[in-house]
Amino acid sequence: MNPSILQTPIDYLKGVGPSRATLLRSELGVHTYQDLINLFPNRYLDKTQYYKINQLQKNSAEVQVIGKIVHLKTVEQKRGKRLVAKFVDETGEMELVWFRGHKWIRENIKINTPYVIFGKTKYYNGFSMPHPDMELLSEHQQNLRVAMQPIYPSTEKLSNKGITNRVMSKMMQQLFVETKARFYDTLSQEILEELKLISKSEAVFNIHFPKNQELLAKAQYRLKFEELFYIQLQLITKKLIRKQKIKGFPFPVVGEYFTNFYKNHLPFELTNAQKRVIKEIRNDIGSSAQMNRLLQGDVGSGKTIVGLMTMLLAIDNGFQACLMAPTAILANQHYQGIVELTKDLDINVILLMGSTTTKQRREIHAELEEGSLHILIGTHAVLEDKVVFKNLGLAIIDEQHRFGVAQRSKLWHKNTYPPHILVMTATPIPRTLAMSLYGDLDISVIDELPPGRKAIKTVHRYDSNRLKVFKFIAEEIQKGRQVYIVYPLIQESEAMDYKDLMDGYESIARSFPAPDYQISIVHGKMKPADKDYEMDRFVKGETQIMVATTVIEVGVNVPNASVMIIESAERFGLSQLHQLRGRVGRGAEQSFCILMTSFKLSADSKTRLETMVRTNDGFDIAEVDLKLRGPGDIMGTQQSGVLVLKIADIVKDNEILKTARHYAMKILKEDPSLSMDKNKVLLYTYQQMAKHKNIWNYIS
Ligand code: ADP
Ligand code: MG
Repeated sequence: MNPSILQTPIDYLKGVGPSRATLLRSELGVHTYQDLINLFPNRYLDKTQYYKINQLQKNSAEVQVIGKIVHLKTVEQKRGKRLVAKFVDETGEMELVWFRGHKWIRENIKINTPYVIFGKTKYYNGFSMPHPDMELLSEHQQNLRVAMQPIYPSTEKLSNKGITNRVMSKMMQQLFVETKARFYDTLSQEILEELKLISKSEAVFNIHFPKNQELLAKAQYRLKFEELFYIQLQLITKKLIRKQKIKGFPFPVVGEYFTNFYKNHLPFELTNAQKRVIKEIRNDIGSSAQMNRLLQGDVGSGKTIVGLMTMLLAIDNGFQACLMAPTAILANQHYQGIVELTKDLDINVILLMGSTTTKQRREIHAELEEGSLHILIGTHAVLEDKVVFKNLGLAIIDEQHRFGVAQRSKLWHKNTYPPHILVMTATPIPRTLAMSLYGDLDISVIDELPPGRKAIKTVHRYDSNRLKVFKFIAEEIQKGRQVYIVYPLIQESEAMDYKDLMDGYESIARSFPAPDYQISIVHGKMKPADKDYEMDRFVKGETQIMVATTVIEVGVNVPNASVMIIESAERFGLSQLHQLRGRVGRGAEQSFCILMTSFKLSADSKTRLETMVRTNDGFDIAEVDLKLRGPGDIMGTQQSGVLVLKIADIVKDNEILKTARHYAMKILKEDPSLSMDKNKVLLYTYQQMAKHKNIWNYIS
């Protein structure tokens, strides 16, 4: 068939017309025949299976049962009546229930006659089925039917306007008539044979009109594979093109700055993981291709020093470097830390933030352009157009999930060739997700903590145990440690959260009175200068307790702090809890994290708390998080619009993803431009997808 028919606007489909077409476009994003074909059912009503009453499960989907009604009665209830039938088969009994239409049922239902009933069951002292679909067994056996009935995605507006599931099915049938149900195959013969996949036509037909479970499963597999395969093909191609085409500045020299620092000023022995990552980075930036690398490492794994040493390599090669952090506090801390580490080197480091004065800025801009400024550290302020470098060779972004993809590309344009980019993140992204999200980035992992760290002990305590917790805090402070107490601050309920924080602060101040105890408080409503002042007192050890909202979440480093109390912990997401916990356990002392909650906990909250208590491993936590929330909610993925998959599920279809990636790599290795005859169809499909924007704009 001529593939271009698939690009026909949906208005032309018989039975659609302008008003339905408008709805299909706005509600479901269906513009063309192709879009409608790709509107896959959410689920199927399985009428191929018959259940016995004793096989019914609580919370199952719709089921089909054969049996007889032996008794019918009306039950009075508070509001109206309900009609209840006793329905039996040879294994047991259940109830059928109607809340309306009693008269019709009473008149038409045959007692003691075999029926096939279909519907969703409820369980309360036995199974019942409200408003079942019913059919006499004798008729059921004569009727030809679609065994698996597809249920399409819908919206309130669609069903209000009469585009019901039945109408959707009709449109789909019409589509198959008009296209003769023949679709060119989007996968090559080679792939189809090796993986024993069914053809495109067969798959598309069976996804909409499955004949049985087995064919449905085959159709799903084939379509999921195809979806993931083309994403991987795109990601890998992009990466190859970037490596070939996008020139970077080669940093061939390992010079005085790096060597001197490494030999004389490194305050500790690097971990093996840090050494390995530095080597990986050196390999990249030593070549003439641009580096685009994601550095993943759990909180406290020591990413900063890796970043600094990369910057020293840039300086050794006559380039400037910049380091961008998401918050002023964090930028400041990086600045302090790097100034300290490089104090014996002849390096000019400067901090640029929103609060930097115009006069200071003028100086900074001048030094940047003239090249006497080696390292610029800052917040978003470094992205401003006015910030012009003489020769930016390396840009490091810390805690990447706070930044959008747009910012990354801004950095790209700060030199004639894009600078090398190193993105550091402490939010471990599960490998599966990293592979599909950041397929165009190379990934390094620091999977080892510096030696001597003791695992943080995490416990969950109810609010009613607060006195014991306070006693524990007092004991730790007695030993010379410092304590964080963190309150949630979530935008929608800000006023209330703010009150919680202040109430909490007062109660803490009462229990830990001056002059024996000093307390810092930091929250979003304070002026930056006041925040910095309070933070600074805590960093210097002048205060023992830091009461704060999540502003301290990212990156803050106070090694003497050994206790992290998280208030209303049930309100935090897993990755946030893990980030917060990472603020302690940075020194040699045993550290603790106490998750405080009320008694009322949802199932998800319980899982989050249990996970935190069970493990300190960020990757493990990220996997649980991914399972709980699904990939769409993982931080940083929303704004990039990724993972709007039509049929595959990044988490559940992990194995298919691996296979798809394997094949995409294998094919591109043999035939990078897809010019071989056998791959023609792949190239064609790929180009079609790009042309019709069916490949999602995944990548920055
Ligand atoms: P993160 O990866 O969370 O950014 P940091 O770079 O802030 O971690 O490092 C956390 C702490 O560990 C810092 O105090 C740092 O000086 C220290 N550190 C980093 N690497 C090592 C190492 N190899 N040995 C000992 N301490 C280290
Ligand atoms: Mg850090």
